[in-house]
Amino acid sequence: MHREGSHGRQGTCLRFKGDTVTSPASGDDYAPIPRSALGPALNEQGYYVGRVQRNLYYVTDGVYQAAFLATPDGVVVFDAPPSIGGNLRRAIDEITAAEGVPGTVTHLVYSHHHHDHAGASFLFGEGVTRIGHEETRRLLLRDGDPARPVPEVTFASTYTLQVGGERVELAWHGPNHSPDNIYIHFPGHDTLMLIDVVNAGWVPIYNVNLSEDVPGYMAAPAIALDYPWTHFICGHLARLATRDDVAVHQAYIADIEASVKEALAAVDPVPYYVAAGENFWAGVKGHLDAVTERAAAPIIAKYTGVLAAADVEVFTLTTTFQIMQSLRLDRGPSGPVHP
Ligand SMILES: [Zn+2]
Repeated sequence: MHREGSHGRQGTCLRFKGDTVTSPASGDDYAPIPRSALGPALNEQGYYVGRVQRNLYYVTDGVYQAAFLATPDGVVVFDAPPSIGGNLRRAIDEITAAEGVPGTVTHLVYSHHHHDHAGASFLFGEGVTRIGHEETRRLLLRDGDPARPVPEVTFASTYTLQVGGERVELAWHGPNHSPDNIYIHFPGHDTLMLIDVVNAGWVPIYNVNLSEDVPGYMAAPAIALDYPWTHFICGHLARLATRDDVAVHQAYIADIEASVKEALAAVDPVPYYVAAGENFWAGVKGHLDAVTERAAAPIIAKYTGVLAAADVEVFTLTTTFQIMQSLRLDRGPSGPVHP
């Protein structure tokens, strides 16, 4: 899906030995990013640390987010994305020095096992108590990555963490983005942290935000909204999310679901299979590509200018494809029953 404008510029179109390599897209190839989708500016080291509420802070490099609680008994870190890396330590030092509380990290909570949110965990050493869902432990044991030490404190459904007079409620409500992704509620800070489901102000990236359980992913925002909170730490981009951000995300997903249902009913598969002859898989591709493109087109048009990167079409196309497959395979029917 080449955008006109990405071609014809000197030095931007790369080709190797007959392989076509997509040239780096210029921001000018796409609609302007809504100002509301952007966050605060980063400092010289490349991070921003902001107060969420009271002694709860979040840290961002513009693309990833982590959080920490600065208590009189030490610091509790929530996620350690490698892209923030050493800047997480710098942000903690900056805040704890200013607030006059110890900068020692005593606990580290994993939202889920993925490396892109946990790969700097090792920076906090072995003296830190790591906490995570029991499935996070199982997956980290499987993956065997020294950058992500396994959590020694695990739980199956809920866990209450109390440090320095603060309380954090961890809960697992079933698989969504990953099998182990948890809800992290800060009842004393009017905040919920749920990673990799809603991207505040932006569309999900490829394949329903690279999610494994599509029905679980689609249901997660409603579970998030069932909690009382004002501030939402979504794990990506530069700013905190609001309840409105979650509602817009829900509308985007609901619109895709409705559009998929319409397209599945409207596109006749027979001509694609007839045209493909004995290449049945070519027939599958023809049919499903037609459904996907028909379903995604009105969504891309509707959300361009509303959610950032809605016009980077591959994101909505791949998310639409995944939701279509989930409607067929999880919810059913996948097709008519032969008489
Ligand atoms: Zn993830």
